[in-house]
Amino acid sequence: MSEGRFWLCTWVKTTDGYKAWVINRPKIVGNGATWQDTLDDLGGAICLATGDGEGRMRFDPPEPTDARISQWAHPKLCRLDPEGDVRLTELDPRCFTGGLCKGCDRPVGSRTNVPLVAIWPGEGDLCYPNYIAYPYRPVMISERLFALLTRAELATCRMIPVQPAPRTRKRYIELVPKRFIPRVAVRGWTCWGTHCKACGDTDVSCTPDAELNWATSTVTGVASSADVPKRPPAMLAFGSVHDWGPVLPIDRACDLVCNPNVAGTRISEFVTVPPELVDKNVKLAKARKLP
Ligand SMILES: [Zn+2]
Repeated sequence: MSEGRFWLCTWVKTTDGYKAWVINRPKIVGNGATWQDTLDDLGGAICLATGDGEGRMRFDPPEPTDARISQWAHPKLCRLDPEGDVRLTELDPRCFTGGLCKGCDRPVGSRTNVPLVAIWPGEGDLCYPNYIAYPYRPVMISERLFALLTRAELATCRMIPVQPAPRTRKRYIELVPKRFIPRVAVRGWTCWGTHCKACGDTDVSCTPDAELNWATSTVTGVASSADVPKRPPAMLAFGSVHDWGPVLPIDRACDLVCNPNVAGTRISEFVTVPPELVDKNVKLAKARKLP
């Protein structure tokens, strides 16, 4: 049995939490008081029953989210989240016009054309690097996904081929957006992020909880609705130059995720609050235009 398979699952709310199971193997069940506990339990059950210790779960209906967040989900746009990964060599400072920050290691300036270098064949069609701590989170697409994207979608980005891993035919293309919709802080919510004094960069995500609790809080990136164009281009980039994700019309994103030739992508809410709810006192990264 291969590892890292996709398992189509469903779930219900119970009196004391959640119950979730694999749709075509209903005896593979997970229970928990919180959604995260339920996911952990179901992941363990999949491993025990099938030997797939790295199973990835996809849910229909979509995973439950916090209603305080969902109320701000954009009605027409959603995020397309990478689930796959590509293992890369250490980030070359020449990949950015300003190199890497001495304080936080994150890129400074804009992306040059120096390619990223893969050291292992990637998994999935929409990928991040496989290290959580990698200072740059490029979005890399497979040739298969590249072939499915429209000219208008691709026109929102510059494309730099990733130097492939030795002895593999698998090719990835790094997308470099031309502009970004920045993350903002929400007034009254608890903000989480890092601020680097050396380069001035701030990353922020928020939770409506009064305190951040990693075990129970739902933490998300939020945009200001004022930053979303009234007639959005075919694809938007949400985040910053070194950590972003694609945003697409919901129908189009569903088409891509459900395409039998596409693996390793999922959809999540694109949360946008009205400008009067944006907390301007938190220092934020500004939208950046690249040449
Ligand atoms: Zn820095």
